[in-house]
Amino acid sequence: MEFSVFGEKFTRHAGITQLMDDLNQGLTNPNAIMLGGGNPAPIPAMLERFQQQAQTLLDSGELIRAMANYDGPQGKDRFTQALAKLLKAELGWDISARNIALTNGSQTAFFYLFNLLAGEFSDGRKKKILFPLAPEYIGYGDSALTEEQFVAYKPTIEKLPEGQFKYHVDFERLEVGDDIGAICVSRPTNPTGNVLTDEEIEHLDQIARDKGIPLILDNAYGVPFPGIIFSEAKPFWNSNTILCMSLSKLGLPGTRCGIVIANEQVIQAMTNLSGIINLAPGSLGPALTIPLIESGEIIELSEQVVKPFYRQRADLAVRLLRDAIPDPRFHIHKPEGALFLWLWFEDLPIHCQELYERLKQKNLLIVPGHYFFPGIEDQNWRHSQECIRLNYAQNEDLVRRGVAILAEEINALYGTE
Ligand code: PLP
Repeated sequence: MEFSVFGEKFTRHAGITQLMDDLNQGLTNPNAIMLGGGNPAPIPAMLERFQQQAQTLLDSGELIRAMANYDGPQGKDRFTQALAKLLKAELGWDISARNIALTNGSQTAFFYLFNLLAGEFSDGRKKKILFPLAPEYIGYGDSALTEEQFVAYKPTIEKLPEGQFKYHVDFERLEVGDDIGAICVSRPTNPTGNVLTDEEIEHLDQIARDKGIPLILDNAYGVPFPGIIFSEAKPFWNSNTILCMSLSKLGLPGTRCGIVIANEQVIQAMTNLSGIINLAPGSLGPALTIPLIESGEIIELSEQVVKPFYRQRADLAVRLLRDAIPDPRFHIHKPEGALFLWLWFEDLPIHCQELYERLKQKNLLIVPGHYFFPGIEDQNWRHSQECIRLNYAQNEDLVRRGVAILAEEINALYGTE
């Protein structure tokens, strides 16, 4: 069968496809130690709350009503109204329901946004999406309709005590030309757990405003929910920001509910796109969480259940790794949020893809780091081949076993066995 240019591009074995394949394998192969994917942890208290909530909705007939009807293309009205009220009250943002659109997962929102703001324009110009700090989220990499639609900048690397390091935006090198349609960053960042500082965000906002382009902030792990953020960082939004959120990392990835908060022009565009591509976003996630948003409980759950759970798991994984791999060439990105540890094996004698394959042979699944550099032209940049991403959110036994396998391989490679 012959596929179109679109078909060829979107049927390639993309990094994200490998990740989702592995995730599936991790769920079906009983021996796999799955420290690869971005599945949130099954936090018992959250699962119990969702169970109660689903039962209440089932009993009241709301659940069946939600399944038996299409919502509008902008998403469930009661949800967008409740969320606007919550964000206004909690964070003081000047927004209404007209500033919010829902999508089937925030992944879909990025596909819409990247192709709305970059690609080919009617007068022949081409624009790109700029990632000011690579590494960046693997899922952005293949979501553009045209080739070379992304450009990214290498970070500066600050080495910290206790074998940690932190990436920063290299503002001295950053150039935002007229061919840039939007700037995009995830905060907290997947894969690194980095949280861009308030100053970095304000600086990027200023650059975006000066250029008359939006700043897309991917808040999949941020505040006010799911709140998987361990450092002090101000939530950020203004009418030039396109803030993307999600119910996934709260523990509901299967509901595929993404949330876009932006000015009315952007929301209208997202709504129209949604109508054409999906008719309407799914209604189960919104139906399930409306009461939690109306009461504000979603914030309490995030602060009192979700955040401490991940914080404790992150601390444990760091401790285990430090003890198991004593070599000073091993560095961990300062864990400031999200579900991952980003491990940098300086001077690793093999490519991280090779490391991934060796570990997979031993039933340990991680994600090789080189996928996380969408838009970086320098394919030979050593640093991008020396890192891996590890999901620390699985249960303690799995993390311990995974770390032991990783340590065995790395210590042998470093010759420090
Ligand atoms: N953005 C980031 C940074 C992510 O890590 C993910 C998923 O892992 C997404 C967006 C997409 O999530 P979803 O489509 O489930 O909302």
